[in-house]
Amino acid sequence: IFMSKAKTALRREQERYKLIFENSSVAIWEEDLSALLKLREDLKRRTVTNIRKYLLEHPEIIRRTYEEIKILNINAAALRLAGAETQEQLIENLGKFFTRELTQILVDKFVTFLQGKDFFQTELKVKSFRGKVYDALLKVSIPREHSKTLRHAVVTLEDITESKKMERHLRNLAQIDSLTKLYNHRTIIQRLEAEFARAQRYGSSLSVMMIDVDHFKVINDAYGHQKGDQIIRRVAGALKESIRQVDIIGRYGGDEFFIILPETKAQNAKIAAARIQNIFTTREFTIRAKTAVKIALSIGISGYPSPSVKEAKDLITHSDHAMYAAKKSGRNRIMAG
Ligand code: GH3
Ligand code: MG
Repeated sequence: IFMSKAKTALRREQERYKLIFENSSVAIWEEDLSALLKLREDLKRRTVTNIRKYLLEHPEIIRRTYEEIKILNINAAALRLAGAETQEQLIENLGKFFTRELTQILVDKFVTFLQGKDFFQTELKVKSFRGKVYDALLKVSIPREHSKTLRHAVVTLEDITESKKMERHLRNLAQIDSLTKLYNHRTIIQRLEAEFARAQRYGSSLSVMMIDVDHFKVINDAYGHQKGDQIIRRVAGALKESIRQVDIIGRYGGDEFFIILPETKAQNAKIAAARIQNIFTTREFTIRAKTAVKIALSIGISGYPSPSVKEAKDLITHSDHAMYAAKKSGRNRIMAG
């Protein structure tokens, strides 16, 4: 009687675990990693000292070990994530997951456990059998009682596509000016620093333009701030269209824009600036039906190499001064600093 009572309790317990395992919304499976013990012996025999380097150079060993890993139990959420109907179908198709990205991840995973650690986690892209691509967070942990044999590792895989999307969105928010969708002040300065360092390293030339709209206040005063915003957005678009693909443009401030021209000497930047001015001379910006305005620009140019340009900041100062000189001498013109 006692025996059967204990058995019933055990069965109930097992059913309860099964229920949780099967119905968990997190993808879970169990895998037998004992193939790693064989790999460890193998590496020892070959007296490999730098395991990571060795494994990266021998993807066939990674592939073989990967194929020897047995999936013991897999829940419905995991099958869903993989796009498989049944455990058998998943196991049959596991080879399809073996990509170059996965090789790198497996190297990290194997090295972690070969070093005797009991936990591994990584973010990765998963492509389901149906071709859907996910951002996923993979966690593998080895329960203490299996740390010697590596017979049972618990793996969870979480779909983090949405939070990655949000992360990218936030990063964009911090880098991009929301009105014009150009780089914001901070980002364009960072880009300038990077380009300047590159020009210095390779001894190439680099020019910049500081561009400020002439009499922009008049537009705000005449048509209101909202129309003013709209014009700033369209001026930004027109500027972007008038530069090369490799040039980098940002909104420096209110009606002020900054353009970086890699591999460009100041004299060629002047030609580019003249072209931009020309485009604006012939273009009208519509405010509403039958009302349009012309936009003129004052442009200051500065270039590297130049004796007075020692750091990225000097390009900003010189082009800014040149832009103010252009304003002072009558606006709608180009000056070099
Ligand atoms: P200047 O020829 O000397 O450049 O004259 P300006 O009227 O353009 O004056 P300035 O460049 O010194 O100032 C720019 C003005 O643009 C200040 C502000 O009223 C307006 N402005 C700045 N940012 C925005 C914005 O985001 N939206 C709108 N609607 N107006 C802005
Ligand atoms: Mg202005």
